[in-house]
Amino acid sequence: MGYIGSHTAVLLANSGHRVHIYDNLCNSNVGTLERIQKISSQKIGFTEGDIRDTEKLTNALRDEKIEAVIHLAGLKAVGESSQKPIEYYANNVQGSISLIQAMQAAGINTLVFSSSATVYGDPVYLPYDEDHPTKPTNPYGRNKLQVEEILRDLSVSDKAWKIACLRYFNPVGAHESGLIGEDPNGIPNNLMPVIGQVVNGKLLSLSIFGDDYDTPDGTGKRDYIHVMDLAEGHLAALSWLGSNPGCHTFNLGSGDSISVLDLLHHFEQASGQKIPYQVVGRRPGDLPEYYAKADKAEKVLGWKTQKKLSDICNSSWLWIKNSRQN
Ligand code: UDP
Repeated sequence: MGYIGSHTAVLLANSGHRVHIYDNLCNSNVGTLERIQKISSQKIGFTEGDIRDTEKLTNALRDEKIEAVIHLAGLKAVGESSQKPIEYYANNVQGSISLIQAMQAAGINTLVFSSSATVYGDPVYLPYDEDHPTKPTNPYGRNKLQVEEILRDLSVSDKAWKIACLRYFNPVGAHESGLIGEDPNGIPNNLMPVIGQVVNGKLLSLSIFGDDYDTPDGTGKRDYIHVMDLAEGHLAALSWLGSNPGCHTFNLGSGDSISVLDLLHHFEQASGQKIPYQVVGRRPGDLPEYYAKADKAEKVLGWKTQKKLSDICNSSWLWIKNSRQN
């Protein structure tokens, strides 16, 4: 029931799917479930458990008569993955193996895996397409790539598997109700939650990591994708997999490249507030720019992003205002 899972659960439920969440709550809380429930048209089930607990997971899959799995149970802080690599490999890689074993035991073979654009590493060319070489530069990215490779091997060994690896770009924004959004534990690393904390007064100002990149305004550029567009991508992949066995990879991004200052100014417009910032040194490991070529998802899945940068900022602002009241 993390950030992407909660939005995807709501969309699935409201599209007529029966949804059951399995989560160890290491990066979320049950309060989110109540809020998900408020904006879902049907009851969403929940089991508290770790994906590495293969037996518990198998039982949950069997008891709930699950037909397909969306696997989002990954630790996701890039910086932290370098400090705690074993924790990351244990949860993200070992956990995925445990999930596959549980699915095999329960006789389920449809899986949507939450992967990441970090599998590409330093750009050889831009935009990244799905054929771009994969050379991740941190443990988090290597976790994602290793799981993709495991899934590819699995689909070769057993042709019944239907797998989609979705390589996310930068998910941002919140549900239009303002009831769910990104709520990271501790000090956030990603740009949008940091902006949120500045507007909320929890941080004094935004530190912009470098304005001397070879980009028009000198700040880093990314492909920001609204989390509800991302959720739609999961739905599209899930229904397409119904008649397409094998292991397939798709970029989920907007194809637009937005600078830190662009995002900041759009957020200022949405919130009507000035956001104080100072430029500091570059963050080690940051790329100047990366963005998606998202044509494959459009051609094959019939999916593309619908939301604009203003939708992203307006929904985030609503979520931030609401969470300030809590
Ligand atoms: N960024 C920044 N200050 C922050 C957090 C991020 O200037 O406090 C910049 C970062 O250098 C990058 C962009 O915002 O150019 C997006 O960073 P984020 O961590 O959200 O995504 P990632 O770099 O992992 O794609």
